[in-house]
Amino acid sequence: MNILIMGPAGAGKGTMSERIIAEYDIPHISTGDMLRENVRNETELGLEAKAYMEAGKLVPDELINAMVEKRLQESDCEKGYLLDGFPRTLVQAEEFAKIADRINKPIQAVVALEVGIEALEQRITGRRICPKCGAIYHMQSHPPKVEGTCDECGSEIIQRKDDTLEQLQVRMAEYEKSTKPVIEFYETQGLVHHIDASKTQSEVFALVKEALGKVA
Ligand code: AMP
Repeated sequence: MNILIMGPAGAGKGTMSERIIAEYDIPHISTGDMLRENVRNETELGLEAKAYMEAGKLVPDELINAMVEKRLQESDCEKGYLLDGFPRTLVQAEEFAKIADRINKPIQAVVALEVGIEALEQRITGRRICPKCGAIYHMQSHPPKVEGTCDECGSEIIQRKDDTLEQLQVRMAEYEKSTKPVIEFYETQGLVHHIDASKTQSEVFALVKEALGKVA
């Protein structure tokens, strides 16, 4: 199945993506992750994208579109794909419709994770991560056994630099401005499944599966 997952920062896209790819045996194609890998490996694309990413700006559409078109033609996408972070603007969505047509891999379902702003604030500001092993904690709902220390590897846990109220507001504003029109674009095609992502992980995943189960 060809799926696009969308949702603001803190909506649980990462967790749901992991569960969706395991359930449907499809690759997780995150343009942010792909770009970061290109930057790390200092590829031509990485060198071009780096300055935009560091400035918090969107990487030019031609670069992103070409990168995604190439990736979707790899053999692991035969059963489908889970796109994450792309299309991020209306222009990208319109261009991607042409690409998907060309390679015969149209989006069949859009999973839109929805969480109210207060819950997002709580999730984001309480989130702590282990910089060493990547384990994720929450000060209220999932604290480590020993305060400030990772249960898994014993390292000191930290707050991500962008997990602040100020940054959340910036990311929400960007989401409203650029990404909402993308959801509306797919809405007119009847592809969007609105999911109440304020519930527990298992409950949210059950809703996602129910929605995707209705897709041919
Ligand atoms: P993310 O991890 O999805 O927040 O992406 C990190 C950065 O990669 C963004 O701030 C952009 O600079 C770039 N990026 C990721 N996806 C796209 C996209 N679809 N279009 C343009 N730039 C992107």
